[in-house]
Amino acid sequence: MSPEARSPLSPATTAVAAGRPARVQGAPVNEPVVLSSTYVSTGTPGAEMLYTRYDTETWHPLEEAVGALEGSSQPALVFSSGMAAIDAVLRLAAPGSAIVAPRHAYLATLTAAREQAAREGSVVREVDIADTAAVVAALAPADGPAASVLWVESPTNPMLEVADIPALAAAAHEAGALCVVDNTFATPLGQRPLAQGADVVVHSVTKYLAGHSDLVMGAAVTDVAGLRSRLHARRTTGGAIPGPFEAWLALRGLRTLALRVERSQASALELARRLDAHPLVAEVRHPGLPSHPQHERAASLMDGFGSILTLRPTGGPDAAEALTRDVRLWVPATSLGGVESSLERRRRLPAEAGTVPEDLLRLSVGIEDVEDLWEDLDRALRATAG
Ligand SMILES: *Cc1c(COP(=O)(O)O)cnc(C)c1O
Repeated sequence: MSPEARSPLSPATTAVAAGRPARVQGAPVNEPVVLSSTYVSTGTPGAEMLYTRYDTETWHPLEEAVGALEGSSQPALVFSSGMAAIDAVLRLAAPGSAIVAPRHAYLATLTAAREQAAREGSVVREVDIADTAAVVAALAPADGPAASVLWVESPTNPMLEVADIPALAAAAHEAGALCVVDNTFATPLGQRPLAQGADVVVHSVTKYLAGHSDLVMGAAVTDVAGLRSRLHARRTTGGAIPGPFEAWLALRGLRTLALRVERSQASALELARRLDAHPLVAEVRHPGLPSHPQHERAASLMDGFGSILTLRPTGGPDAAEALTRDVRLWVPATSLGGVESSLERRRRLPAEAGTVPEDLLRLSVGIEDVEDLWEDLDRALRATAG
């Protein structure tokens, strides 16, 4: 069977095959990096390239690949960071309306939403995104403005709450709101929100898509007529564009997305199971554990359970902090989604939500050998306990 006859291709294949140059004799297999701020141009500009802040061909292979991975018929739009993409998408909210968002959304997303709401006479309603009835009630309450945007993160950061995206997208549309999903944690291999009814997907490409902790970038994907051009216009005016080398490097990272995610999520589940039985661990959270409150929902809506888990050591916040110093292989650092495993006590950040336990460590599992990861954690837990 020809590859065309089997389409749509699996995401693992799309990550490798999308965004390649046309197959003509002597063509390169990768698109070249174009280093030019402007293009030769006379008269009234047409569809050709004009100026790199508007568009440049070096973004296109990455935009095609990310758009295809999210199941959109339109290419993604890449931005200089995840937050630049999020800021552009938040501006789709109507002034004087409500933005409904998870109380455990990415911190800077909540900050950007609150700042925008204050400028525009809007409100941000923070909800438990796993509680579908509560989210639906927050979309159009009797005593406040109706929502124009429902912001979803699933699993959330760092509490790993899992949202019922199909139900939430349907409810958002019924209330006249757009449904946006930050798909950074799940990746398009784990979850395809557009197919579940969402209007826009955003990514911190910095994390899994690029995957090597060596660049900062964002992307937005939509299949809704008119929305991509509004986001494109916002990117052009705001000017939050990625450089050509970063776009090339992110695509290079994206080619191995499936291998990295398959490995890291298998290791995350194994580590979650072992840590769950560890005498020095009080609580483990991972959507793949039957003890997770939305385990069944994650099993039915996601492919795999992601590569993030959280743990709370029995010794409290001091033990959690000590663990980040006692590990030798795990890297103590913020961020996630790199090939290297990392961990962080989230409440060390003063702005982290007060509902996140003081002693909670967020672990981003990388692609190292799982036994090495386990031994390092087990040894550090014992060293911490004295
Ligand atoms: C890191 C992150 C962001 C922000 O992305 P940057 O690339 O750091 O700007 C947004 N959402 C989630 C879920 C993230 O993990």
